[in-house]
This record gives sequence, structure tokens and C-alpha cells, in this order.
Amino acid sequence: MSPQADLRRALLDTARAMQARGLSRGTAGNLSVRCADGAHAGFLITPSGIDNDAASADDMVEMTLDGRHAGPMLPSSEWRFHRDIYVQRAEAGAILHAHSPFATALACQGKPIPAFHYMIARFGGSDIRCARYATFGTQALSDAALDALQGRSACLLANHGMLVFGRDLPRALALAIEFETLCEQFWRTLQIGPPQILDAAEMQLILEKFATYGQQTR
Ligand code: 13P
Ligand code: ZN
Repeated sequence: MSPQADLRRALLDTARAMQARGLSRGTAGNLSVRCADGAHAGFLITPSGIDNDAASADDMVEMTLDGRHAGPMLPSSEWRFHRDIYVQRAEAGAILHAHSPFATALACQGKPIPAFHYMIARFGGSDIRCARYATFGTQALSDAALDALQGRSACLLANHGMLVFGRDLPRALALAIEFETLCEQFWRTLQIGPPQILDAAEMQLILEKFATYGQQTR
């Protein structure tokens, strides 16, 4: 099997896992993986408007970094922010976008998530920003997302959902689950009253600890 065939299968399996793990329902959301393989340099992305349970590995769409796609299937309508993240963020190996319930509820408020919990630092800073609203599938949405992702690996998209990237597909899925969990925790906290927010010095310490956290030697 070519490396691309393996990646197509892994992309489809992870897209199905988004559904199984409660991050996506129906055709909402999309997923991509960077493809560094010589002739295939670019990325593979889920097709637009297709339920991944009904899709096959061959339906995953190959794209170049200048936005051209190959094959009969149309790429996700959000290919622009996937492409722009791969171009601007060398550390991104896989990108996940979902309309997961708690992240989307918060995104509809149009506000950042503050340091109500130390795990916010997992995504690179002392808050998680909310990208300004723009119509789905537009370059304006990609521009807004890239702004909100500066120095971060996740953001909310106003009145839409969430966006996370990681170094590979398993990592992107794991981070998306952590992100949605944090959003649920924040939502629950807000039911009781305004949360206590960790200060900048404490968040700086946490960010330093995360630079080495969980790095086992085996
Ligand atoms: P696609 O089916 O085109 O990926 O669109 C889903 C979506 O979430 C758009 O923001
Ligand atoms: Zn969407």
C-alpha cells in the first residue's frame, strides 16, 4: 500500500471517530492531514457534504497548497482555512473542525475562553480566542481563524464551532476531545456563577510546565 493509501484510510477512520466521540453529527465538520510525500505534497481532506459513515477512503480529496484538488469529489468547503494553516504553521500535521455541542454554544457568545482552568495552556496561551464571525467556506473566515490561532493550536469560530490542529491525526483528535471537555467544564462553571480566573504569572508557569509535561522516555 502506498503511504497515501494509508493516510486516506487513517483520515477516514479519524473522521468517523469524530462522530463516535460526540464531536460531530451528520455532515458538519471536516478533517485533513498533511501529506509530505514528494509528488503528493499538500494535504488530504474530507469531501464536502458527505457523511463519513457513507464515505470510502477513495472519497478523501487530495489538494495542493495552492488550492487545486484532484479526483471527482469536491473538497470540504473549508479547504481554505486547512490550506492556510498548513502554509503558515509548519507544526500542523492534521486539522480538525467541528460543531461540537459545548464549543459551539460558547462560540455563539463570540467571546474568548479565559484561564478558568490551567488546561487552557494546552492550546498555547492563557486564553482561547474566538475568531470574528465570517460566512462558512470563505477566505474571510480563514483570515479570521488564522488571526485567532496566532500562538495557539485551537480557537472558537464565532456562531459556528471550533478548530484545532495537532502534529498528526491521533493528536488532533485527542486535542479536540480535550478542547470540547474544557468547553463543557467552562459552560458548567458559568451555571454556578463567574469563575475565578488564573493570573498571568500562574499561566506563564503552566505554559513552561507544558513544554515538558507527559514526555515519557519509553
Ligand atoms: P463541509 O461538508 O463542506 O466540510 O462543510 C461542513 C462545515 O462544517 C462547514 O463549516
Ligand atoms: Zn463548520
